[in-house]
Amino acid sequence: MPIELKDLKIPVWIYDIDNYCIHWANQPALVLWESDSLEELCSREFKSGNSQAVEARVRQYQRAFIESDVSFYENWHFVPKGVPKSVFCQFSGYVIDNSRMALLVQGMPTAKLQHEIQVNLTAMLSDYTADGRLISGNPPFLDAMGHGVSHLQDIIADPAVLKTIHRSLSQSERYEDDVLMSGVGGEHWYHLIAVNVQDDSGKEKILLQQYDIHRRKVSEITLAKEVLTDSLTGLLNRRGLDKKLNEFAISETSFDFFYIDLDGFKIINDSFGHSIGDEVLQTVADRLVENSPESSVICRFGGDEFVMVVTNAAESAGNNCVAKSILADQLVKTLSDSYYHDAQPMALSASVGVAQYPHDTDQLSNIVLYADAAMYQAKRLGKHRWIGYTAGMEQVILRQGVIAQSLSRAQSRGELELYYQPIWDFAQGSDANIISFEALLRWNNNDIPNVTTEEVIQVAESIGIINEIECWVVDQALTDLLHLRVYVSPGVTMSINVSAVHLREPTFPQCISKALQSKNLSFKDLIIELTESTLVENMADSNSVVCQLAQQAINISIDDFGTGYSSLAYLHQIPATVAKIDRSFVGQAEKNIQPLCHIKSLIEAHGMRALIEGVETQEQKDRLISCGITLQQGFFLGRPEPLDYYAKNKITGNCSQ
Ligand code: C2E
Ligand code: MG
Ligand code: MG
Repeated sequence: MPIELKDLKIPVWIYDIDNYCIHWANQPALVLWESDSLEELCSREFKSGNSQAVEARVRQYQRAFIESDVSFYENWHFVPKGVPKSVFCQFSGYVIDNSRMALLVQGMPTAKLQHEIQVNLTAMLSDYTADGRLISGNPPFLDAMGHGVSHLQDIIADPAVLKTIHRSLSQSERYEDDVLMSGVGGEHWYHLIAVNVQDDSGKEKILLQQYDIHRRKVSEITLAKEVLTDSLTGLLNRRGLDKKLNEFAISETSFDFFYIDLDGFKIINDSFGHSIGDEVLQTVADRLVENSPESSVICRFGGDEFVMVVTNAAESAGNNCVAKSILADQLVKTLSDSYYHDAQPMALSASVGVAQYPHDTDQLSNIVLYADAAMYQAKRLGKHRWIGYTAGMEQVILRQGVIAQSLSRAQSRGELELYYQPIWDFAQGSDANIISFEALLRWNNNDIPNVTTEEVIQVAESIGIINEIECWVVDQALTDLLHLRVYVSPGVTMSINVSAVHLREPTFPQCISKALQSKNLSFKDLIIELTESTLVENMADSNSVVCQLAQQAINISIDDFGTGYSSLAYLHQIPATVAKIDRSFVGQAEKNIQPLCHIKSLIEAHGMRALIEGVETQEQKDRLISCGITLQQGFFLGRPEPLDYYAKNKITGNCSQ
């Protein structure tokens, strides 16, 4: 059985637009209208009580209902018999007397609805002459905007918005947007709809409907802000930066892009803890803000990477290249100034890469890549400096990307292999021995030409697979050591290179012990090769993995000795047993052996043995032995070879070359 209108529990009534009276109402509507009977309610006259704005609005509805089958929703305020009422209404068209379009109104409770959609559905209505003078406003309008409003410009503070409204209406379009308006309580967000209507005499006027959307709008704005900012530093995040760069591109604004990466931040984070790390990042952000030209865009790009974008207009007038270099110098200097925690200095510096838009590229998608490539170059040249982009620099990064993709599958495809290079001891004169082998990683890949082991390690570090790879290296090398002891000499040990990244893994010492135990080997069978800078990084913390390894009596060898920046200052602290003099020193052996003799004495004075790598000729070998460097490694004494090579070729531990 169809429900009849009169049986509905919600108030329903039909308003006769043409005659300004209620045509029909159900019982709940009578209660709402404070009426005893339908006759009484239908006898009420609404013409004189309505403002012109409301009248215009109802006429607008009527036209819409004649044209199509639509409904409108609005919060409606009225005051029957002096009692204020607020009802959320659905307005639809309803034909009465077989020809006239009336207003079918259904009322619903509003509080919940308003809360859920965070919009106040009360329609504030006002109408104006074509040039913007107020004619009338309904009570909600007057309550919110004040009784002193006389012109549109009193409530629409931004002249640009007002201009747009007039322009839209003059092109007979409706204007609809969220607008910040001035009212009784100050500035407030409204959803505004402005349309042209005609009054009874056919004169053009403007009808304004506004809905209070302040709460929703403010939370939208806050959310949008959060989406674009970094919560730790309050700087823009990557998304925020993208937005700004797009704006620059649209307005054809040229700019310099400074890509900043902190040197040594990871160590601070690891040794002082993450909350101190966060403080340091905040300090970096503050320094950037304080030292950047006005209107620069500053962004935390990720972890310890920041970006500063300076438009050329903001840079000091004159030669842009000069401005760029002054700014870059300042950046490196300010960001590398001392940082303190509890009066304890923390070593931190910045490496910066600079790319210019559109000078270096007019593609926004390339600007980050180019500046990153320049920054990478700054790192490679020793950090704590800035480098400007030059053509082709990005090839290194692009190649790394290609290597990364392929390398991530290398282990599962069985493409990794170890080669072993012998280390000789000539201390016993002609009765020389192979005392150890260095395990060197090889990647058998057919796709990318000439990938060096250094590149493999670097990429593995950057994509976070180095630990996995090196765990495999440790296990494989110790397994092969058992074979090498059969093929070559029973007393040989194994040297393994370990990356600084892997060394930060707190479980590393346990992994090593477990691997040794599983092969029935002991700590003295293994030597861990660490570069000087890796060792120095670890010395600051007595709980560091290096210190734990030293406590476990695992032999540590300082790799590439002499290439680091701090050999003398820290040498006495490093718990190593051997220092491997870098092969770049070998060439000197043929010219002047003295410096090498000094290096050897220095190493021995610190209780270590000197080993030299990169021996390529008989003469080098002999001269080095003559100055007492008897531990040697190099192509002349044996190239790195796979295990199979030692199985097939009889290489005795004794050498009397
Ligand atoms: P490294 O530890 O200093 O190893 C010595 C490098 O010098 C090896 O290069 C070796 O092949 C090369 N070499 C040895 N003798 C001579 C010589 O007489 N002349 C010349 N010109 N070169 C010689 P390779 O195998 O390309 O390894 C390069 C670097 O890659 C290694 O330097 C080491 O730092 C790193 N590496 C290798 N395997 C691993 C690994 O498993 N983990 C880590 N973290 N790094 C590794
Ligand atoms: Mg090595
Ligand atoms: Mg080396």
